[in-house]
Amino acid sequence: MTAPRFEGRTVIVTGAGSGIGLAAAVKFAQEGANVALFELDPLRAESAREELESIRAGSGFVQIVDVSDPDGMEAAYRNVNEHFGGLDAVFANAGINGAKGPIEHMELDEFKKTIDVNLGGMFLSVKYAIPYMKQRGGGSIVITSSVNGNGRYSSVGMSPYSTSKAGQVAFAKMAALELARYRIRVNAICPGAISTNIDETTEEDARMDEIAIPLEFPRGGDHPLAGRHGLPEEVADLAVFLASSESRHVTGTSITVDGGESLLF
Ligand code: NAD
Repeated sequence: MTAPRFEGRTVIVTGAGSGIGLAAAVKFAQEGANVALFELDPLRAESAREELESIRAGSGFVQIVDVSDPDGMEAAYRNVNEHFGGLDAVFANAGINGAKGPIEHMELDEFKKTIDVNLGGMFLSVKYAIPYMKQRGGGSIVITSSVNGNGRYSSVGMSPYSTSKAGQVAFAKMAALELARYRIRVNAICPGAISTNIDETTEEDARMDEIAIPLEFPRGGDHPLAGRHGLPEEVADLAVFLASSESRHVTGTSITVDGGESLLF
């Protein structure tokens, strides 16, 4: 019998308490990994840790941290290194929808909040991984971007979100080239509509009718492949592949996982 792919390896998953991050944390643990669960919400984090505990005792290690907080993130990476001894992969996944509405009425702070969490949090997740991965002689970083901002621009009013998601793909490519010399791979994944809790993070302006577009778009549920939204596990499988040695020659790419949704609009 072959050993699990992540036996003896340590993976950080940000936004590990819900949705795509939780599904990935579970899969990493099932594959033998030590999983550091980075999460803002303590209740979600604890429930994720318990789920991992039932897979393998001690496989989950919680860090309550805001990914956009530099000091908190630096300390959390240090804690993971001390607890598990090293770092092999990071799934930089935490994100929010944030402000949705007319640009004309949006405040700069509302715009910045989404950028800070989605882009700033991703930047810190990559930055603080580098010294530990250099020590290890390599590593893999997977960033959760989106189809929004990457070929799909029909989520009207989601300008901060789509901007952050476009920036993530550009950053992944820049980082992939810069870090190749250390054998650190960086890739982005672009999910379509996935059934998670992310809609709770949408802060919608009541004046959306001012920017409504007089066109009918196919609804998110009309996926060509499955006829439904994607499942977090269907995204997590891709993240685990990109974090594993099976993708050892893949870096600087972005892969869409959307059941064909973005082919329509
Ligand atoms: P989710 O809300 O179900 O899970 C995200 C988790 O991240 C939550 O547990 C939340 O508490 C945590 N989180 C939020 N802000 C944080 C912060 N500042 N610091 C630490 N943790 C934080 O959402 P999800 O859909 O699983 O989203 C995960 C990623 O997938 C996001 O980057 C999102 O943009 C991306 N994505 C989601 C979809 C979708 O349709 N659900 C589509 C494309 C991309």
